[in-house]
Amino acid sequence: MLNELKCPHCGGMMERRTLNGGCALNATLGIISLAIGISLFFSPLFWLGIPLCIFALYIIIFGINHKPVWMCKSCGSIIERA
Ligand SMILES: [Zn+2]
Repeated sequence: MLNELKCPHCGGMMERRTLNGGCALNATLGIISLAIGISLFFSPLFWLGIPLCIFALYIIIFGINHKPVWMCKSCGSIIERA
């Protein structure tokens, strides 16, 4: 495992970063769905809250997908890390 890497574009030092691979919109949608799902538990439509909460958690888990990368400190170029 390498601790440092040289940038193929500018020769600068690269550092380990974690990118948010998922869409921020997905995460927001997931949180809103979860909030609606939870509030449904306190209404006569509580049975609808269960699938909605499952759906919301699914979006949140798969929407916020952290991806390991190398990022150049000088030029900001990104290389995927295994
Ligand atoms: Zn660079």
